[in-house]
Amino acid sequence: MTLANFGLLLCQALIYFSVMALLFRARHRFGLGLFVCALGVMHFLETYLASVFYIALPFGIISPGSTVLFSGKLLIILMLYIKEDAQVVRQPIYGLFFGNLMIVGLVLVLQNHQVLSVVPGKEADLSFVSEMGWLMVWGTALLFIDSIALILFYEKLGPVLRERPIIRMFIASAVILTFDQVGFFTALHYVSGAPFVVMFGGWVAKMGAALVYSILVGLYLRYAESGTEPVAVAPRLKDVFDVLTYRERYETLLHQVKLDPLTGALDRGQFDVDGEQMVERARLTGRRASLLLIDIDHFKRVNDGFGHAEGDIVLRELADMLAKRLREEDKLFRYGGEEFVVLAEGLPHRSALGLAERLRRVIAEESGKLKSGRITVSIGVATAPEDGGALVDLFVAADKRLYQAKDAGRDRVIGQPEPADSAE
Ligand code: GH3
Ligand code: MG
Ligand code: MG
Repeated sequence: MTLANFGLLLCQALIYFSVMALLFRARHRFGLGLFVCALGVMHFLETYLASVFYIALPFGIISPGSTVLFSGKLLIILMLYIKEDAQVVRQPIYGLFFGNLMIVGLVLVLQNHQVLSVVPGKEADLSFVSEMGWLMVWGTALLFIDSIALILFYEKLGPVLRERPIIRMFIASAVILTFDQVGFFTALHYVSGAPFVVMFGGWVAKMGAALVYSILVGLYLRYAESGTEPVAVAPRLKDVFDVLTYRERYETLLHQVKLDPLTGALDRGQFDVDGEQMVERARLTGRRASLLLIDIDHFKRVNDGFGHAEGDIVLRELADMLAKRLREEDKLFRYGGEEFVVLAEGLPHRSALGLAERLRRVIAEESGKLKSGRITVSIGVATAPEDGGALVDLFVAADKRLYQAKDAGRDRVIGQPEPADSAE
């Protein structure tokens, strides 16, 4: 019996996930609306099951409504964020929130009808929905918080677990589902006296669900969504939060962040916007701001020796190696062909030289695994305000030093003649 229950739960999870994954995979052809509608409509079954449909497992009593459908929904929302972005995922998050509130509102009005019984023996019963009224409001608010917290926590884990997507999704969802279980069952306990054993059983089941769905999403992303993937430049948590909660500034909406399609780094136009803002902030706050100009050495040889397609792969790999080594607040841009710029806000010159040196070394070491063989870069570094207060001053200074590095034999970093570094 127990085994049958596990089998049935797994079967539900597989059906739910496969259909949602298929709809999601078809988004380029049919649009995201199919996927989002299907996700929203599952709420009906989820709420009903979570309220009244419980089964026994060896570790406690659980409902497929929370275990399969609610936990699945959270992981599917995370998958949507991973493949699309915060601007897309916030739409269903808010849609679910308002849709749920509307159910409660409509039930409040519906209760006032004088209801007829047309099917013998079947009476309309809204008492269950109205009893659960405020619990639903609470659940709805929790889902909203859960979704946003899950995405932020997933991003937070990025620096340590970027190479381990399944573990990263599992930890993030396990923590958020634990929070959800405590939050929801505390309310349920006080409203309907649900015993705490139900909370524990539900928690174990949610951990199982987090594991199963993390594996499913991980496999889906690996095998169904692989291909030319832009390198993820780690976003700032605050920016993600602002976008998720529709708080991003008007100006960021105006220039939507543009990524270079080949490398996934920010593009040249974005460099002009972000660079100007950075030097302006540095001027106002008196903090330092550094610019690293990175040019690949003898890149023509890669193209000549291995073809342009291989050259493109090398560009993408190098952008990936660079992006991984940056701090959360640094930004990587593809300035032109095989030239990249890093904007490092708040970094004084000596630290910027240290960063440049680490980047140079990482490229020299890790590029050995590329088909085209080891590759080196030369880097020119400039810092405001010593090298000037305008973006163009920084760029000209960094460019000059880059050429000095090339002349001096390449594979090196050159900064200010005498590092006049001072404390922040
Ligand atoms: P060095 O910088 O060390 O002086 O030598 P280099 O060979 O790298 O010289 P340069 O920077 O002048 O040449 C850049 C080359 O990069 C020229 C161009 O063919 C190649 N390139 C520019 N953009 C792309 C691109 O998007 N894909 C590929 N495959 N190659 C590109
Ligand atoms: Mg060049
Ligand atoms: Mg070059």
